Amino acid sequence: NLSVELDLHTNDEINELATSIQRLANELNFMKKERNEFLASVAHELRTPLTFIRGYADIATRASISEEERTKYLHIITEEADHITKLVEELMLLAQMEQHNFHIQKQITSIESLLSNVYEKTLPTLLEKNIKLTINCEEDLTANIDKIRIEQVLFNLIMNSFKYSSSNSFIQITVSSSDQNLQLVIKDYGDGIPQEDLPHIFKRFYRVDKSRTRSKGGTGLGLAIAYDIINLHNGTISVGSEVGQGAIFTIIIPL
Ligand code: ADP
Repeated sequence: NLSVELDLHTNDEINELATSIQRLANELNFMKKERNEFLASVAHELRTPLTFIRGYADIATRASISEEERTKYLHIITEEADHITKLVEELMLLAQMEQHNFHIQKQITSIESLLSNVYEKTLPTLLEKNIKLTINCEEDLTANIDKIRIEQVLFNLIMNSFKYSSSNSFIQITVSSSDQNLQLVIKDYGDGIPQEDLPHIFKRFYRVDKSRTRSKGGTGLGLAIAYDIINLHNGTISVGSEVGQGAIFTIIIPL
């Protein structure tokens, strides 16, 4: 009797163990697949600018071309090299954040001064398309945040709004607070994002339209970085959009 009972007990345990191992194996396979896809994306993202550099370097060294053409090709080479540098820097930052090697440096920060920095930094670019940035912020608002990193997130979001908006458009930032949270809303009236892409746009290298984005010089990592930085603040970042109506990003950070 005892042995039967023991067997049954053991069988249950073995089944449970088998299920756990199966689940673990599935998770590992999933992670392996994700890692391979990520490596393939990195390789692809690096190969494209390298192909440009190789091609234009070839042409630029030809004796038959004019000095003006040579300057133009060297300029393209510099831009592509800069793109690779940005890509590598962003990848390193993401790797650090995901390895938990990265510590945000929180300090009590005046939100108005943070926004004024962001305004100054984005203004020259916004002027290129005569896009107007308006900022609405509660007075004397402060929060315990990593000033540099939150500035970086806002800068990235505004640059995205700029990239996907047409000339003479508007970008609006609204900041408010409650007892518990700081809320930052960034709204534009640009191309917008299709519904089916919305759940994916915070993933590394995810782009709505690869060809469109490539011509706009993005790395496809900006939103993944924003997501990780907000996550390190225990906050959330979300997006709402309709094609042709613009996009709206909402950041909520616990105070
Ligand atoms: P990228 O460097 O390509 O801009 P991001 O991670 O910043 O990479 O954004 C991912 C993708 O999300 C972009 O390629 C673009 O398709 C879409 N996107 C992000 N912000 C906006 C926006 N404000 N309006 C329209 N599309 C956007």
